[in-house]
Order: sequence, then C-alpha cells, then structure tokens
Amino acid sequence: MSDCIFCKIVNHEIPSRKVYEDDVVVAFLDLTQVTPGHTLVVPKKHIQDIFEYDEALAQAVFSRIPKIAKAIKDSNPDIKGMNVMMNNGPLAYQSVFHSHIHLLPRYSEEDTFS
Ligand code: ADP
Repeated sequence: MSDCIFCKIVNHEIPSRKVYEDDVVVAFLDLTQVTPGHTLVVPKKHIQDIFEYDEALAQAVFSRIPKIAKAIKDSNPDIKGMNVMMNNGPLAYQSVFHSHIHLLPRYSEEDTFS
C-alpha cells in the first residue's frame, strides 16, 4: 500500500532502526520507546490486523517471534521480562493499520503498566 508507513519501511523508502529482517518479517525499534528496546515485528505482506491472517501467514509470522524476542533479551542482561502485544482495530488502540507485534522489554517492577 503506497500510503502505509510500515510498507515504506519494508520497502526501504523511509529509515528505521532495524533489528531483524528475513523474507517474511522485518523488526525495527518503535519510534516511541516505551521501554528501551521496544521493537515492532511487521509482516512484509501488507495486512491490516489479526483478523486478516490466514493460517500459513500466521504460522510464518508468529513462529519468528520467539527468536526475535530472545535476540533482544540476549542483547541486554538488564532485560528481565517482555510483553508481546498486538492492538487490533481502533477500539483496541491500533494506530498504524499494518499489522504489527510489539515486543516490550521489561527491566524492573517500576516500568510495568499501571
Ligand atoms: P499505539 O499507537 O496505540 O501503540 P499501534 O499498536 O498501532 O498503536 O502501534 C503503532 C506503533 O507504531 C506506535 O507505537 C508508534 O510509536 C509506532 N510508529 C509509528 N510510526 C513509526 C515509524 N516510522 N517507525 C517506528 N515506529 C513507528
């Protein structure tokens, strides 16, 4: 999609701080670092939200999450936990309508959600 910000990142039309890329997904740091290392995993195929995945794409995308999560955790010994989250639809606070999974490293009890 020509007006999709994440398609532009996938197609290298705008910069991102990439942490991982393969034929199915790209992972890059979120502009808004809720905690340091906050990463988005984005399917290269433009798909709006969880409701548009077929089984094959779901398997391809979600099977990559543990490897990327482990790589982020291994990059910093202070990371003690990680939220893996997805917002689907405006009512669920999705603001970019190209499906993505948030990986949110956790460092201490003070950085948890209220
Ligand atoms: P929310 O904005 O409520 O977190 P989403 O789950 O749709 O909703 O998350 C979209 C995320 O994309 C936001 O965390 C935002 O900071 C991030 N974002 C938007 N534009 C860019 C960009 N160009 N590069 C990296 N992250 C971006």
